[in-house]
Amino acid sequence: MIYRGRKGDYRLSANPLASGGEGAVYAIENCTPSVAKIYHPQKLQNSGEMLERKLQTMVQEVPVQPIVDGFLKVAWPQDVLYDKTTGQFVGFVMPKLDSSLKIYQIEQDENHRLKLFPHYTWKYAVQYAYNLSWVVWYLHLNGVIIGDMNMNNIVVDKQGHITLIDCDSFDITNRRTGERFKCEVGMEELLAPEIQGCMMVANADFTPAADDFSLAIHIFRLLMMNADPFCAALVGKSVDSSTALNTNLNIINGESPFFRQLPNKKVPPWAPPVSILPPEIVDAFKNTFTYRQRTIRTAMKFRTTAEEWNKLLLKYAQADPNPNLSRCRNNHVYSAHLTTCPFCK
Ligand SMILES: [Zn+2]
Repeated sequence: MIYRGRKGDYRLSANPLASGGEGAVYAIENCTPSVAKIYHPQKLQNSGEMLERKLQTMVQEVPVQPIVDGFLKVAWPQDVLYDKTTGQFVGFVMPKLDSSLKIYQIEQDENHRLKLFPHYTWKYAVQYAYNLSWVVWYLHLNGVIIGDMNMNNIVVDKQGHITLIDCDSFDITNRRTGERFKCEVGMEELLAPEIQGCMMVANADFTPAADDFSLAIHIFRLLMMNADPFCAALVGKSVDSSTALNTNLNIINGESPFFRQLPNKKVPPWAPPVSILPPEIVDAFKNTFTYRQRTIRTAMKFRTTAEEWNKLLLKYAQADPNPNLSRCRNNHVYSAHLTTCPFCK
């Protein structure tokens, strides 16, 4: 199948590489560093006109560089695709990924992670957190809001790099016409409290600060062995270690057992204490996760931003020998403010 773009014709593979709810992704035979997403007819019927204007905006008005320092940071749309005969909008061209690992495969339990990365240490977690904060900061600098920063949209590689995908769901504003293409989806357990308060995500007003909240949850999970800051174990009850209990309700109420004494909730027994983290990192989390339901609007101004996270994490993410990290006899890597290895226990 051949589709027309602004930059020329694209010859797509006969069969898709992958297919999802919104469309299918195809290899491009005459442009192998890129792939094409072709929307399903149903999606085009429902929101084709809006998607066409949104993708034209992303390609022409908000052109974000996908590759920075030699690494693909964001699978930003590169061209808009049209049917050659009818001229109808069908999809878009984007950079091809080298990795298919998702961030949840890294955040997940240790045994699973060790299968993927036999040499995984806490240094990797820091590296991912640093690179994730960088790309969020980079997009904010370009006037882009991510909105749905869910774990399926974050691809990682074995060197510690991060690529954001599914950019067509991002919250984009055309700076010339002022038209805004809102993000209308989101994963409940990652959404900022002011977004949770909306009856429907489609009505929510995403901001860079809302992204900063989701970013902090990902960083926390990376640095804290997959513990969710709002996943509490109920006091006096035994709970399966992987169960998130009303995480979104805890987010609305600002009830993180890691940062607040709560009468009926506590840190899950399997989770490490926050004291394994450098004190300045703990403070950055406190600035994001300490609030009450009635103080959400005031507290969100004090959230640690993506830029601040990036600058804070830099000294721990730097190459070895790194004086801010220690290594124990069992080759665990941990923050140098600790006197003994927290991962040997
Ligand atoms: Zn150790």
